[in-house]
Amino acid sequence: MVKEIYKDLEEIKQEALDENIPIMQDETIDFITDYIADNRVKKILEIGTAVGYSSIMMALSSPLVTVTTIEKDKDRYIKALKNVKKMNLEDRITLIYNDALEVKLKEKFDLIIIDAAKSKNKEFFNKFENNLEITGAIITDNLSFHGYVKKDLKDITSRNIRGLVKKIRSYIEFLNNNIKYKTKFYELGDGISVTERRLK
Ligand code: SAM
Repeated sequence: MVKEIYKDLEEIKQEALDENIPIMQDETIDFITDYIADNRVKKILEIGTAVGYSSIMMALSSPLVTVTTIEKDKDRYIKALKNVKKMNLEDRITLIYNDALEVKLKEKFDLIIIDAAKSKNKEFFNKFENNLEITGAIITDNLSFHGYVKKDLKDITSRNIRGLVKKIRSYIEFLNNNIKYKTKFYELGDGISVTERRLK
């Protein structure tokens, strides 16, 4: 049974990698599943499902975890539906097919994962902070953007990448200067941040 689960997970991961679909690095998933256990996280909102790999990993980390995850790409959403079904997690993972910036949710979540368009991190943060429990956290992935964020802009030849780097730097600054929240940055995986409310 356990062997079967690992085999299915490996297949989902390999298929995503073969199709160049970006998924979270193992180190990042390990960090997040440890965070879930240490902080008794139960309700998770994820922006950026891709094919459901990280949602599945988070749901498998504890039977108490439920995940709502949003994806705007139809093919990826359909594949995620298939993968969630394959892992028998339909009762704990809710998939939403839409642009996250168009989605209205009333519920509150213990953990919000931002792992979608790197240029829109600030918009996602501002929109979904209303859905964060008082003691909840927002984790953002890809803040290092394959090492580009630390590079000198003049050493980056692609205009597109320079634009994304500027956006990510501006998001990091926004987190650092946000008086309502405190943020810790971790140089693991592709660089992540954990943002929690400053409680009085
Ligand atoms: N979290 C996934 C995992 O680790 O298995 C990987 C997500 S992938 C890095 C980012 C995904 O976000 C892509 O599939 C992309 O289509 C989706 N995305 C980008 N902008 C979005 C938006 N505004 N709303 C919803 N999904 C979006």
